[in-house]
Amino acid sequence: MSRVVFRNAMVWDGSGANAYPADVLVDGGRIRSVAKASGQLMAEGATAIDCKGLTLMPGLVEGHAHISFGGAVNDSDLGNIPPEEHLLLTMRNAKTLLDHGFTSAYSAATSKLRLDVVIRNEINAGRLPGPRMKAASPEITVTAGLGDERKNHMYYESFGMIADGPEEIAKVVRLCCREGVDNIKINISGDDLGPMARGGITTMREDEVQMAVDVGHDFGKRINCHARAAKSVKRAVKCGVDVIYHCESADEEALDMLESVKDRIFVGPAIGIIYGTLYDGEPHFSKEFALEIGMQRVIDDSLKVYTELRKRGVKAVIGGDYGFIQSPQGTNAKDLKHFVDLLGYSPSEAMVCATKYGGEIMGMGDELGQVKEGFIADLLLVNGDPLQDLSMMVDADNLLVIMKDGALYKDNSKLAKAREKAAE
Ligand SMILES: [Zn+2]
Repeated sequence: MSRVVFRNAMVWDGSGANAYPADVLVDGGRIRSVAKASGQLMAEGATAIDCKGLTLMPGLVEGHAHISFGGAVNDSDLGNIPPEEHLLLTMRNAKTLLDHGFTSAYSAATSKLRLDVVIRNEINAGRLPGPRMKAASPEITVTAGLGDERKNHMYYESFGMIADGPEEIAKVVRLCCREGVDNIKINISGDDLGPMARGGITTMREDEVQMAVDVGHDFGKRINCHARAAKSVKRAVKCGVDVIYHCESADEEALDMLESVKDRIFVGPAIGIIYGTLYDGEPHFSKEFALEIGMQRVIDDSLKVYTELRKRGVKAVIGGDYGFIQSPQGTNAKDLKHFVDLLGYSPSEAMVCATKYGGEIMGMGDELGQVKEGFIADLLLVNGDPLQDLSMMVDADNLLVIMKDGALYKDNSKLAKAREKAAE
């Protein structure tokens, strides 16, 4: 771990406040001081990084990560990857996320039970580059739900674990806990991109959802769910689910229910894949097909619902199902601009979703996701002011420094200054 001082930075600290000029000292993996008067900070023996004209901000948190997903067109593609190749793919994705400024990832689901878990362990042990991770279970689903790709007389794997009835659900949740996940994923709704149950259908019964929540909570795990239909959202809130993804069809009653538990839940629109299917789907998804399966409707509904959720103070996280052919890993920061362009957030609000709320969904809100004294030193030094143009966050070349846990994973700050000089 290095002792590093960032001098003359514009600090956007993740709280939502305006950026301010400051020096920031990192030592022992933590942010030791944030000195608003530049040049006043004593930092003997520290490596100094000149940040003039650059923005220092918290590392990004992917709030709906699928680090074991890659290049899939159909859900069944993820089931067709043998475990050995799948592990290598997941390793590469973990590095890709960190290369793109995601120093933390809250997994929304893995596609084989132990993939997230073993990658998390390797990263934590320092043997593999990647974000700090909360590892998820696969998507637990019922027969005919999202993630059940089988047909009668035919067997297809997917990313799901199929369980019917409370007892089977309990067993699958316990199995995932035994294997070391941090959180459990259940699919309460279907999905318009899936072959069977559409997004408007609520596939998982209340007693099944309740059992997943009760068993998961007994083991101290967070419960994430896939919920598109209003009925699914209400079921999730009623049963005590912690992270409710999508929610675009929430009606007035569902919105009231979400608001009533805003202090303990997170939502996530996962809009990236929807946008990707509509605008970057060719040649796998034609525009006609994307419209036919309601991708524009999902965007329109999400704008209404997330405008309302934002006003009511319900915390949303970024992360848009990156890992499919139309939403490649490494482009995850596109969600920042999507939050502004598609969902009506201000640039600062979108960035708070990616940093402060990210720290909170990781369960580390008192030490992660902000540039604050005592916090974990997960930092990005950005070539300019991201709030003026959030799209700059997608290009890894704009991330001059990536620091995780106080260690310089990437330091191109000198390179950038040299280029600037050469150009003068
Ligand atoms: Zn997802």
